[in-house]
This record gives sequence, C-alpha cells and structure tokens, in this order.
Amino acid sequence: MPELPEVETVRRALTPVMTGATITKADIRRPNLRWDLAPDLAARLEGQNIVDVTRRAKIIQVWLAQDVMLIHLGMSGSIRISDHAPNGRAHDHIEWQVSQEGVKHWITFNDPRRFGYVDILRRADHDSHPSLAALGPEPLSDAFSEAYLEDKLQGKTVPIKSFLLDQRQIAGLGNIYVCEALFRAGISPRRRADTVIGKRARRLLPSIRDVLEAAIAQGGTSLRDHRQPDGKLGYFVQSLDVYGREGAPCHRCATPIKAIRQSGRSSFYCPLCQR
Ligand SMILES: [Zn+2]
Repeated sequence: MPELPEVETVRRALTPVMTGATITKADIRRPNLRWDLAPDLAARLEGQNIVDVTRRAKIIQVWLAQDVMLIHLGMSGSIRISDHAPNGRAHDHIEWQVSQEGVKHWITFNDPRRFGYVDILRRADHDSHPSLAALGPEPLSDAFSEAYLEDKLQGKTVPIKSFLLDQRQIAGLGNIYVCEALFRAGISPRRRADTVIGKRARRLLPSIRDVLEAAIAQGGTSLRDHRQPDGKLGYFVQSLDVYGREGAPCHRCATPIKAIRQSGRSSFYCPLCQR
C-alpha cells in the first residue's frame, strides 16, 4: 500500500512531465473507482493547462486554472509515465495525455482493487473537500513542530501508535512508517500518548521526519531503475527495521521483534529498545 513517501516520489516524477503541460486527452475507461467518477471529468480536463502538482497527505493534487484534480492511489494504485502511446493493460482505468512544447507523455492510472479515486473540484472548494478538510499538518512541514506535538499529545489516553495514525493530528502517516518512527524514537507503540513527554517527545518528531525523508530519498533512487523497464511508479522496496520483521533480530540489540494487534492493525516493535 503506497504511503506518504511513495506518493511523494510519484508526485516528484509527475511534476516535470505535467507542470506547464496541457492535457490534450483524458481517457476515462470506467464510471467508478472507490466512488463514482465525475461524469464531466474528461470535459473539465481536456484543453486545460496544468499549473502545479502538489501533495497533501497521500493525495496528489493537480492544479488547473479553475479546478484541482485529486488522485489517491488507495491500496493498490500505481501511475505509469510513458513517452509513447502505451499498450493497454488490465486495470488501466484512466489515461491522461499531456503535451508540452510538442513533447507528449501518457500518464496511466492502474488500480486492480479500485480503492483509489480521482476527483475534480473547483479550486475554491478545495479546503472543504471531505478528504482534505480535517487533515492535521504535514509531517515534513514547519507547522508540525515540537510545540504542536506537545500540545496535541496532552490529555490523549490512546496508545501513541493510534495517535500517530490519526490523520487529524498528523496527515499522511500510515502503519509502516509509524512503526518505523517509533522504533527510531525508542517508544513502545503501546505507550499512552500523554506519557510521551520530555526526552521521548523530543526524539519522536525527528524520528518521524528522518524515516520519511530516508524513504523518499530511497524512492527517488529506485525510481530511476524502476522506470527503465515499464515506467511503473508507486511501490518501492524499503529497508525496514521492524515492520514485517516479527521474530527477526532487532537491528540494535538482536532481541526478536514482536508483533501485536492494535486497533485491528499489526504493530511491530522491539520490546527491549522501545519503552
Ligand atoms: Zn532492540
């Protein structure tokens, strides 16, 4: 499942191809993904100039003059970029053709499980969109500060793991990178959020940033290799310390990594390094 670093890597790959380009064709091949697609999606995109490509949490935002298109990769979505008309594949649901100074690119949205979505809305309605309105600050932005974190942790009796996954507190963190950030910070996923104070609180914020930045850097590296064979973007092998490593030795102390269920999701941690 693509998380923030994978989505950011896709955004960085789309930016040079899309920004400043004109959408010459939008080929919508089914009426719905997770939700119904806007019936006028193609009409609103075709002929439009792309002003900018940004990211909010795990949502890619393609800004046009009047509208903004939102792309969410869901559980299994991926994007391919080609410099020639691609051969259609199973689950290629949307294909955008863009042109910039006579250079054409084809951008394909593929999603076998269809938990992803593509939406279009007026720029003025952006901030009130249901998937954007309640989001907390971006973990890599200045708004996510020590003071902010300290303030939000106060009085929260849920486990720190649940707190970090709550998109209203911090936007875009998913299971993999929360497990990894807690390992780096030496904090147990079971610890009550309001007891993450002092040294632990100070370690948490840089741990979240470091793990995301490392994953983005790695995604950027894999990206170049990845695009050679088929242009597919969206999933990258990460070097993980705890996630998916139940029973394997901790990279710091060799204690076997433990897995528990929290709110229906797996948490992986070192019972010795993380308290
Ligand atoms: Zn350990």
